Amino acid sequence: MTETDVAIIGAGPAGLFAAFECGMLKLNSLLIDALDEVGGQCAALYPEKPIFDIPAHPAIEAGALVAQLERQIAPFATRRLLGRRVEALEGGAGGFCLRTDKGEQVRARAVIIAAGAGAFGPNRPPLAGLAAYEASGAVQYYVRRREDFRGRVVVIAGGGDSAVDWALQLKGIAARVHVVHRRPKFRAAPGSAAQLDEAAARGEIEMVIPYQLHGLHGEDGVLTGVEVAALDGTTRLIEADRLLPFFGLAMDLGPIAQWGLALERHHVRVTPATCETSVPGIFAIGDVATYPGKLKLILQGFSEAAMAAHAIHPIARPGEALHFEYSTTKGVP
Ligand SMILES: Cc1cc2nc3c(=O)[nH]c(=O)nc-3n(C[C@H](O)[C@H](O)[C@H](O)COP(=O)(O)OP(=O)(O)OC[C@H]3O[C@@H](n4cnc5c(N)ncnc54)[C@H](O)[C@@H]3O)c2cc1C
Repeated sequence: MTETDVAIIGAGPAGLFAAFECGMLKLNSLLIDALDEVGGQCAALYPEKPIFDIPAHPAIEAGALVAQLERQIAPFATRRLLGRRVEALEGGAGGFCLRTDKGEQVRARAVIIAAGAGAFGPNRPPLAGLAAYEASGAVQYYVRRREDFRGRVVVIAGGGDSAVDWALQLKGIAARVHVVHRRPKFRAAPGSAAQLDEAAARGEIEMVIPYQLHGLHGEDGVLTGVEVAALDGTTRLIEADRLLPFFGLAMDLGPIAQWGLALERHHVRVTPATCETSVPGIFAIGDVATYPGKLKLILQGFSEAAMAAHAIHPIARPGEALHFEYSTTKGVP
């Protein structure tokens, strides 16, 4: 049984910054995340993509942002339980008990749910034998390192921002890039879709339209080709050794939906001024939280982390006055 002032469920950017805000108020916290590393979507989905709307950073790669957040919370030596999914949350005013899928129990005075999209995972194409190619890395749903694709023949499937952005980013690295989409119009940002058309016109990318994924060719996880089918059923084989299907993320609150919190369309409803949920003592911040006017942006999660930590102080330290102070005044405790 681990004890803490604040249990933070989710170590994405919102959860990491919540650990900082708690530390600044001299509240100890514990970060718990289902993934093996911190950083949430930034680390798992797009570590090498530059983000342009983090205040005071004209551009910062998502992985670098996570590294900076880690540096910022380092003084507090926040404990972590990684590779653990929180399955159960029980209790009420006075204390909560959390249980992970590995059987650990955590007692906390207050809880911050910073679970983002919940147990997010990629939407997988229904292709025979997919698991073996996923295991070998021939089929991947995220680009962790562009360099892994150097010299590869890559098939990218999908019509959204990820498909278009990665086609543009990999064209100078991969030996060849094919983009498979079932219709000529792309859902991606118009500017990116136009760049894709221009790259295709220059022969840098081959468009395979209107086709959809039909089968995988190869043996023992070694991919040699991707079969695609047109709407009339005619098929075509593209020789390739990497497939990147970008069909979006499956969002699922997972166990959080069973914790008796007021929900709104797969999100946790909170009071905007404090980020408290319908259960006193349980707070929600970042992508998982919703209220009128909510923007799913990292910067919004940072601000919500500060509000939640301040609202938690009287719960975790009853009777102790909290004097609002700037960090420039008090420094890092
Ligand atoms: C390709 C892409 C580009 C983006 N670009 C931008 C951008 O330019 N600017 C911007 O502001 N935002 C951008 N975003 C959105 C941004 O990444 C999210 O808003 C942000 O990650 C939300 O942070 P979070 O901490 O709320 O949740 P997340 O980053 O989703 O982290 C939540 C964490 O909670 C964990 N978790 C969930 N349930 C449990 C459980 N039961 N037990 C334990 N752990 C759990 C998950 O494993 C995850 O690690 C982008 C997103 C994507 C996919």
